[in-house]
Amino acid sequence: MTTFVRRSPIAVLAVVAMALTAAACGGDDSDTLKVYSGRHYGIETAFEQFTEDTGIDVEFLTGNDAELRERIAAEGEDTKADAYITVDAGNLAAAADDGLFRSIDSPILDAAIPAALRDPEDRWFGLAVRVRTIIYNTDEIDAADLPTTYEELAEPEWAGRVCMRNSTNVYQQSLVASLIAEHGEEEALRIVEGWADNAEILSNDVLIIESVADGLCEIGLVNHYYLGRALEETPDLPVDLIWANQDDRGVHVNISGGGVTTYSKHPEQAQQFLEWLATDGQDVLVSENHEYPANPDVPAEPLIATEFGVDFVRDELNASVFGSLNPDAVRLMDEAGYS
Ligand code: FE
Repeated sequence: MTTFVRRSPIAVLAVVAMALTAAACGGDDSDTLKVYSGRHYGIETAFEQFTEDTGIDVEFLTGNDAELRERIAAEGEDTKADAYITVDAGNLAAAADDGLFRSIDSPILDAAIPAALRDPEDRWFGLAVRVRTIIYNTDEIDAADLPTTYEELAEPEWAGRVCMRNSTNVYQQSLVASLIAEHGEEEALRIVEGWADNAEILSNDVLIIESVADGLCEIGLVNHYYLGRALEETPDLPVDLIWANQDDRGVHVNISGGGVTTYSKHPEQAQQFLEWLATDGQDVLVSENHEYPANPDVPAEPLIATEFGVDFVRDELNASVFGSLNPDAVRLMDEAGYS
């Protein structure tokens, strides 16, 4: 039987391992806020701090994004979930499309979170920012010789020199969705065909960083926080990043975020929880994972502020587009032979 967890790391791991094999059975008559989370990074510290600040207890269940959405849908009106938190706007948009979120009217969230990072219908809100950009081996290639855009990575010059993420990954799908939004399908197809010709396709971002560090690829495309973590562990790692597309639309930014479930039993507290994560809790939410704050009034944590900086041009495309164009992105990658 799967139970909700309250602030015990060991128990969290147990729930991840057992994820979704049985119905949730936490004490459902209490005032405890229940959160289903597909975002695993550093959530526990944030939840503890929220309880300390507000007196509202939080229980949470972690698992695979698609499985958590299926679970909330299957539980329907009886769901225990008051809030669903996850990574990537593609996943948030999928939850909204499935009717799992209610629209919420929150002046606090509207003020804290830039419009590009939240659903136009106020069903979900970005809470942390992840930037998918170009990394390179600092021993193998001069910064001056680097490609400066996603589009350039399709040029023949980069054949066999770049590592990229597999097509089933939502991070890569969202990046391709942003290419479709920018260029239209025909041109986006041409770019992704070039990527398919040039790239070694790997199954996760950590592997891409390791391959760049080992010189197996000169450059790669990853979410910045994976490099933040790698540099935290190995400060002299010969890998650095540049922000892509600084002379045009800006680098591709995505979010982790959340919303209040349609059948939440504690919608006011769930909204308060999101509002807290977007304001007082921003720092504790993003710091452990080296994400950038979604709230522009909150400073970035020292490692990324120092290593990567905070001044860069971000693509302002609304994150909801990553969801709406996701089926097109998946089809286009298939058509391009990008696996
Ligand atoms: Fe990630």
